[in-house]
Amino acid sequence: MSKKNISINLEEAPEGTIPRCPFCKEKLDTIWTKKKGLGVLEQNQIIMCPSCESLLGYGVFGSR
Ligand SMILES: [Zn+2]
Repeated sequence: MSKKNISINLEEAPEGTIPRCPFCKEKLDTIWTKKKGLGVLEQNQIIMCPSCESLLGYGVFGSR
């Protein structure tokens, strides 16, 4: 088994940079989140573009 070394530079985005929606290319100065609570500690959350209502992300965010 050989592993390739891949180096990726991680840089802090310049201040004032606004991400774009990958679908409608609108600047996302606002994003929508929708939460589905499973309990006090854990929540399913989806992230949506407010312009085209595309699903941008999904995850479980909890504080454990
Ligand atoms: Zn969009």
